[in-house]
Parts: sequence; structure tokens; C-alpha cells
Amino acid sequence: MPVKRKNRGRGKGSKGHEPMIQCDNCGAFVPRSKIQRITRRVSLVGGDLARELKKQGAYIAENVVTKNLCISCAIHYGVLKVRPREERKKSVFI
Ligand SMILES: [Zn+2]
Repeated sequence: MPVKRKNRGRGKGSKGHEPMIQCDNCGAFVPRSKIQRITRRVSLVGGDLARELKKQGAYIAENVVTKNLCISCAIHYGVLKVRPREERKKSVFI
């Protein structure tokens, strides 16, 4: 059967089973190797105010937020892009 991607969109290999993880945006249960994990630094003070405070030498704490996104949510938020037919055959999992 022809497949869209070489690894069928997962990094599982011949492992058999892997735990399901819930998407932080839509709540869908997705296999662990299929999830897109994003880590971002989030500051409570933003924009001009943060720039001004940094200029005066103040320390502004930043929180590190890690999110698990399913493929549809990752594409919707621009984390992943839809790849053309030839590029799809390359694996993103190393
Ligand atoms: Zn989702």
C-alpha cells in the first residue's frame, strides 16, 4: 500500500506500543512520538515596559512553558508546515 510518509508520521519504528499523550490545545490523545513539543520563554511583563525596565538594569523573571501539541494544532499555530510531496519522504525524526 502506498504511504504518504516513510515513517507513517511517527518515530515508533518496530517498538509496538507507546503511551498516548494529550494535546494541550485541543485535548486529543496522540502517540508520544507523534506529538510536537514546544518550549517557550514567557515573560509576565511585555513590550515597551520590559525594554524600559531592562535598560534601567532590572531583572525580569521569565517562565519556561512546555506544550505538547498534536499535528493539526502544530500546523494551525505555525510550528510545522505542510511539506511538498518529495520533502514528505524525509524523516523529521533522527
Ligand atoms: Zn491538538
